[in-house]
Amino acid sequence: MGMGNAPVIILREGTKRDKGKDAQFNNIAAARAISDAVRSSLGPRGMDKMLVDSLGDVVITNDGVTILKEMDVQHPAAKMLVEVAKTQDAEVGDGTTTSVILSGELLKKATDLIDANVHPTIIASGYRLANEKAQQVLIDTAKKVSIDDVDTLKLIAQTAMISKSVNTSKEYFADMVVDAVKTVVDVDQDGKYTVDLKNIQTVKKAGAKMEESYIVKGLIIDKEPVQPSMPKSVKDAKIALIDAAFEVKKTEIDAKIQITDPSQLSAFLAEEENMLKDMVMKVKAAGANVVFCQKGIDDLAQHMFAREGIYACRRVKKSDMERLGRSTGASIVNKISEIDADDLGYAETVELKKVEDEEMTFITGVKEPKTVSVLVRGGTNHVADEVERSLVDAWSVVRVAIEDGMMVTGGGSTAMEIAMQLRDYAASVGGRAQIAIEAYASAMEIIPSTLAENAGLDPIDTVIEMRKQHKEGKNFAGLNPYTGKVEDMFALNVIEPYRIGKQAINSATDAAVMILRIDDVIASQASPVPQFGDGAPSGLDD
Ligand code: ADP
Ligand code: MG
Repeated sequence: MGMGNAPVIILREGTKRDKGKDAQFNNIAAARAISDAVRSSLGPRGMDKMLVDSLGDVVITNDGVTILKEMDVQHPAAKMLVEVAKTQDAEVGDGTTTSVILSGELLKKATDLIDANVHPTIIASGYRLANEKAQQVLIDTAKKVSIDDVDTLKLIAQTAMISKSVNTSKEYFADMVVDAVKTVVDVDQDGKYTVDLKNIQTVKKAGAKMEESYIVKGLIIDKEPVQPSMPKSVKDAKIALIDAAFEVKKTEIDAKIQITDPSQLSAFLAEEENMLKDMVMKVKAAGANVVFCQKGIDDLAQHMFAREGIYACRRVKKSDMERLGRSTGASIVNKISEIDADDLGYAETVELKKVEDEEMTFITGVKEPKTVSVLVRGGTNHVADEVERSLVDAWSVVRVAIEDGMMVTGGGSTAMEIAMQLRDYAASVGGRAQIAIEAYASAMEIIPSTLAENAGLDPIDTVIEMRKQHKEGKNFAGLNPYTGKVEDMFALNVIEPYRIGKQAINSATDAAVMILRIDDVIASQASPVPQFGDGAPSGLDD
């Protein structure tokens, strides 16, 4: 008995397999569906999206990464584009829509080439070359921005906010954003600036106009003193930060104490009271009049603090404790018995303030504010959420502008400049890579053309006019979506940090290349939907 012609089965029954062009087109279609989903939100004239989750919760936003995070994307290749947005968000905090649209367009141009029988590995290597060249062009077109150039930093903040609902008050928010970032910036001995955005914290509260949002140099802590009889406000505050409980330790083992006469009981209780009193008096002796405790404070200890006129909060979050240390100069103490005056921090005022229905502790007038809190307001929770997202975008771009010290112009101008220079470069490379680099150049034009489309303009006319101006040496020519004209973006103050472009181009290329190189999709039965169409969220391919 021979083997006959029975097929050799190496995969478990039910495994789905797509090979060659099928696999490629299927992946590309899924990834492009993602970029199509966010396209209409790009730029100052972009539209918002309303996203409703399975519980009926609503998010209204125009922020690329928020849109993609809320969508329940299933297709593995589509997920790679969502990753692009997430990386952009984590690394830069803005430019998420841009990066995803760019990646989608790189894939679209690749499809045309695959159709014309250009092998995906050739496309991939051409795209890699183009990416390197694009990075060089980006650096060459960038201008310097200094941390002391507050006006320019504000313009950068405004560009990031222009497409959001805060746009109506963008000057107000830009002032606040630049102030916030400059307050928390650190400089090392080589004069290099770094900004840790953890030191800018938001406290959100609906119920007032967004223009009533304000910045507090110092901190807002969502806590009230543990006892109502404690002071509501302390001037000249000496602040103790304690990471230990004001409690008498319970024994580890379940010990039983036999009490045979009443005096023993009172002695026992007195002993406990004395231990607590020692702790409280130790803190008072160090000179503290405000205590933030990361752990618990026993009832008895609470009363003692109140009697001493000390403002004490318990179960303060670790992150708040760290910010408190940074801004007031206090060190966090682990052993209450070891606290002394040196450990205390200082603030002019620590006070309880009412924001809507909630009471919070405001710490202000610190010597060198190295942290800020922004109280974010909005008429409704949805508005406050979107204000917060916009502020986060804005201080992220100001942060990277300060860290890198470089900026470029927006409105599609930089993308166009890259496209133009890439075409020249392609000709110099020649061979088959040339076609791929040219395709990459055309893909860059998706940025100006989408901005035009979203402004209700003819994208082709805009792109042609922009090419013309760049050919004439107008390197900063971009689209003014309000006039519909191609204008000098520097003159219009449409400026962005260099890092948005750097990161967007890098991660868009990486994802496109990675998707292109896949020619075989093997999906076990349990894994979700390798076929585009049955698993992707509906309504994506509008
Ligand atoms: P992203 O998620 O990519 O940041 P946005 O919706 O914030 O998307 O849009 C950013 C795009 O809008 C960038 O290309 C930027 O240059 C452009 N842009 C922002 N403000 C203006 C303006 N005033 N004029 C022209 N283009 C602008
Ligand atoms: Mg943006």
